[in-house]
Amino acid sequence: MTYTAPIDGLRFALRHHAGLGDPAAPDGVAAPDDDTLAALLTEAGRFAVARMVPLYRIADREGARLVAGEVQTTTGFKALYQDWIEGGWNAVMAPEEHGGMALPLSVGTALLEIWTSANMAFMLGPVLTQAAVEVLLAHADEKLRAAWIEPLVAGTITATMALTEPQAGSDLGALRTRAEPAGDGTYRLFGQKIFISWGEHDLTENIVHLVLARLPDAAPGSKGISLFLVPKILPDGSRNDLHCTGIEHKLGIHGSPTCAMSFGDAAGAVGWLVGASHRGLACMFTMMNRARLATGMQGVAIAELACQQATAFAAERRQGLDEAGHPAAIDAHPDVRRMLRSLRAATLAGRAIAFTTAGCIDRAEHSHDPAEVARAALLTPMAKAHCGELGVAAASLNIQLHGGMGYVEETGAAQLLRDVRIVPIYEGTNGIQAIDLVQRKVRRDGGAAARAEIARLRQAAMASEGSNSLAGVAPRLLQAAAALEQATDWLLAPQRSEPECLANATAYLTLFATAIAGGYLAAALVAAEAEGPDVGGPKAPDDFAAITRFYAAQSLPTCASLASIVTEGAASVLES
Ligand SMILES: Cc1cc2nc3c(=O)[nH]c(=O)nc-3n(C[C@H](O)[C@H](O)[C@H](O)COP(=O)(O)OP(=O)(O)OC[C@H]3O[C@@H](n4cnc5c(N)ncnc54)[C@H](O)[C@@H]3O)c2cc1C
Repeated sequence: MTYTAPIDGLRFALRHHAGLGDPAAPDGVAAPDDDTLAALLTEAGRFAVARMVPLYRIADREGARLVAGEVQTTTGFKALYQDWIEGGWNAVMAPEEHGGMALPLSVGTALLEIWTSANMAFMLGPVLTQAAVEVLLAHADEKLRAAWIEPLVAGTITATMALTEPQAGSDLGALRTRAEPAGDGTYRLFGQKIFISWGEHDLTENIVHLVLARLPDAAPGSKGISLFLVPKILPDGSRNDLHCTGIEHKLGIHGSPTCAMSFGDAAGAVGWLVGASHRGLACMFTMMNRARLATGMQGVAIAELACQQATAFAAERRQGLDEAGHPAAIDAHPDVRRMLRSLRAATLAGRAIAFTTAGCIDRAEHSHDPAEVARAALLTPMAKAHCGELGVAAASLNIQLHGGMGYVEETGAAQLLRDVRIVPIYEGTNGIQAIDLVQRKVRRDGGAAARAEIARLRQAAMASEGSNSLAGVAPRLLQAAAALEQATDWLLAPQRSEPECLANATAYLTLFATAIAGGYLAAALVAAEAEGPDVGGPKAPDDFAAITRFYAAQSLPTCASLASIVTEGAASVLES
């Protein structure tokens, strides 16, 4: 597999989707200047290509293995992990006082795209550790923070999120793991967790599990859940009462061990409470926006990889004749051009949504402006679900473009689809994201945040009217805005029942994300053109205008059909 980090595309996304370094907002989110950013991304790209890409296929072929209760990671992962932490990459997002670079989330999102394209299975581990650091920074007491944050940032230990149980997946209120106070400020945990990514491995000696469990006096359901820090090796060096009972044989990301974990087979696994008792879910929700965005980014990263692979294959593979009667590379055929442009459009649209969301989260955390907070909350389920779906669609189309060679394992095209297929499932299934969008993000505030986004879409349409390179885009954007508004009004009508609203929540999420991605692409290009060549900021990728026109012609028309599914399709789902 080959991969080139799309440095220019990422710099453009940071500037014109995330709004980093916007001269109109001089007191905005602090970020490195453009040259420093370019150097950072280039260095991250070098590491990805030299150290991570070579293990992408090996990890898939070998997978992680459980041997005598210990998980052995795939050949090369141990040395890669050492290089990863010695290079300081594990720490880039952490606060400076803990040895990090305190980069904004938007920059972390760009780095994450590069590393995830290069090796998605490996990157899952560091992403979870980073999420654990955020949880501990926000909720743990001084003692826990002092003991655990530094080694987690340095990467000498890793972390997991141990939420799921056999009977408690989407519905975490059903979880049964128990935590009993030991009387000395610690707790003893008893229970079974499943599907715990990087729950056991040989990259570091110690692993910290952030475990959701119930205290004896807990109320039933999601209000009675608390969060505990449970290390594999206790501070006195002894082994805690927890172990991995099995690893899953799964469709993709074979290099990432997905573990069944047993806590408390003997006297109970020693743990410490993080945050207030019974507030475990709330603690986890503080990092939910970031974790969901990181998951969506996996879709963008795989779409970029699929796009690069398809482009190279289509230039090489010869079938049929060109107009002059010579053997043609398949990229000369109109239907293959359509596939290549669809792949590129999926990548750029996903990146537009993800980086716009990252910029909103950065500004929301920086300013606490309620409008930015509401916008970040609105965009997050779309970033998770839609970017994930775009990644799956792109990986599937990449197989199609390869013909028979896509269906055999040799080319690696199949691995992309197997790997990315998890994205719509974990970190809250896409169905749950759609419900979140409709219920909590659109209906709860009477549509205020949604209407603000629709207004932005109309502004993008008006702005693109003046751009020669966006001929024909404005009317499509206006039609998409009208479709989104119609579906939003329908959902907000007082007589609408909850089942009616949720029956086609997924279609609504797709409609919303498809429409606004078109607006983001157009607005970014208009802004870049307005800056002109003298500003010296990142330039739009060469094909950006053509892909935006392609997206307007091929993707935006689907908004009208999606709106009619939302407004007319509920009965077809609900009737018996
Ligand atoms: C490879 C892998 C890695 C994972 N890593 C981790 C990890 O590190 N830590 C961790 O804690 N978990 C992890 N998970 C678990 C993952 O988060 C869950 O699988 C996911 O939340 C879905 O839960 P479930 O599998 O029980 O599906 P279910 O909740 O049973 O859902 C089945 C279907 O029903 C739908 N559904 C469920 N409830 C509703 C509802 N109320 N309304 C509408 N539709 C609904 C879902 O959308 C889905 O389509 C991982 C899973 C996998 C496969």
